[in-house]
Amino acid sequence: MTIETLTTLKVSFFVLGFIIFLLIETYHPNREWNTPRYKRLLFHSVIAVFNTALMRIPIIFILMPVLILITESQYGLLFIITEQNSIKFLLSFIILDLSLYWWHRLNHTNQFLWKFHYVHHVDTHMDVGTSVRFHIGELILSTIYKAVIIYIFGITLAEYLFYEILLVLSIQFHHSNILLPSKVEKVLSRILVTPIYHTNHHTTARSSREANYSSILTIWDKLFLSYVDAKDEERLHMGLENREIELKLIENIMYPFKKNVDR
Ligand SMILES: [Zn+2]
Ligand SMILES: [Zn+2]
Repeated sequence: MTIETLTTLKVSFFVLGFIIFLLIETYHPNREWNTPRYKRLLFHSVIAVFNTALMRIPIIFILMPVLILITESQYGLLFIITEQNSIKFLLSFIILDLSLYWWHRLNHTNQFLWKFHYVHHVDTHMDVGTSVRFHIGELILSTIYKAVIIYIFGITLAEYLFYEILLVLSIQFHHSNILLPSKVEKVLSRILVTPIYHTNHHTTARSSREANYSSILTIWDKLFLSYVDAKDEERLHMGLENREIELKLIENIMYPFKKNVDR
């Protein structure tokens, strides 16, 4: 599989998911938008294009070489643990999701990483556009982290791609401004990260923001005691104390390089 096939496959699922969740949140929104939607969409589209273009470099030079090496050499911990493909596939999924949980948690506890992750949280609203709102620095650092995990555990290209596609769809889903029937939301969030579940993580209230780190499976928050349900009124106030730079591109890109960064 070439970098082109990998990118095309991921981008196809990304575009399809984005359109579907955009349509659903248009017809069944949970919250009203305070800022015109076109402004948010424009801002997040520029970020998405900028990030996609720049991310080709770490993908070509770090991620792909490690994935190709592992796929061809069949090297890594999981190859030692099991010879059965289906079990290895399942274990890879669990390892990648668990690793991402700790990476996200580290992004909140480590001051250096928080400077980059701040850009994701400075959004005062949350919709499918927020799913692409990541500082390029965070994306590059997380690619290096993922490459290390792939190398240690021996995760193949197919296993990685399967997880990444589900991750993209999950991130779009739980950031979208969709109103799900409360019963569906409740049952689903026992297993998967849902929009309300992730809204807890985007509130200004630190107790629930510095919690709820899961990306696909919610079991990690329960297992590592980081599940905190916010109050209904807290969920109405999203973002951080900084309400000025939300849709300012240069300020967002330059933010991690500031001396003092808010918590
Ligand atoms: Zn976060
Ligand atoms: Zn988020």
